[in-house]
Amino acid sequence: MAYRVLIAQFMHETNTFSKLPTTLDDYRKRWLIEGEAMVPRFTGTRNEIGGYIDAVKTYGWQPVWAGAANATPSGKLTKETWETIRDMIVNAARKAGKLDGICLSLHGAMVTETEDDAEGALLELLRGVVGPDVPIATTLDLHANATVRMARNANALVSYRTYPHIDGYERAVQAAALVQAAMEGKKKPRCLLVQPAMLEGAETAATIGTRATHAFCMISKLARPLTMRMCRSSGSRRVRSMWPITLSTALCRPMSSRSTTRIPSVSKRPAACRPPVRSKVDCAAAIESRSRGKSSFAKS
Ligand SMILES: [Zn+2]
Repeated sequence: MAYRVLIAQFMHETNTFSKLPTTLDDYRKRWLIEGEAMVPRFTGTRNEIGGYIDAVKTYGWQPVWAGAANATPSGKLTKETWETIRDMIVNAARKAGKLDGICLSLHGAMVTETEDDAEGALLELLRGVVGPDVPIATTLDLHANATVRMARNANALVSYRTYPHIDGYERAVQAAALVQAAMEGKKKPRCLLVQPAMLEGAETAATIGTRATHAFCMISKLARPLTMRMCRSSGSRRVRSMWPITLSTALCRPMSSRSTTRIPSVSKRPAACRPPVRSKVDCAAAIESRSRGKSSFAKS
């Protein structure tokens, strides 16, 4: 029997310093699509929804297309905007009847006039609809803000590995594979949240032959991450200084596992900030290898 999987997107990178509120019109300017109309709009594209559309074909899912919304980064979402798009997705889940899984495309730094942790709130509402046993996975921007609420209500947070972001499709395919494995009972992923020390500035965060590339490699080795996020000051909602970025990792491990996740102490992590110890080619290959599903994420 085909698994019923709800698929939705709700993206926004909010800059809480901006006085320009984000409205429904701002979403309409980029896209605000309800229901199944999102399929022809994104079929064949290399973004997250394109990845989920292909996953539906790959796994033979019976999809529930809730909608897709994305707006240019700006100030906080108005109450009306947040509630309209939130309800579009949550109501689709309520009307869907029995769901076996949920695949989302979120940013991870959305703030509204009434909600500081919008992604956490959305995930919590969806968890309330489907209950604790239905796997929920979402893609995130790599400079998303991780929250306990998000980690608690999602089974997997899969963030981009590239900045500029060119791997949305691959991350969605990865998230979909996790949901599929969870629905089949092969895995029971959950999220652990780690927020270690600050790393370096956004101006050197590009993953094309920069220190960030090497940082990703180092963190991958240290934490065996399923999700890595570099939280940059711009667009983030809890900013303590103008330029530093923080690195967060969220780890997914089988619920049945009795083993303890070993995460190096913060004092050992600054090694990730040191000058490269591996060649750029090695690092690029390592990241590419992870992109192809050879990471611990795929095995755990
Ligand atoms: Zn970004």
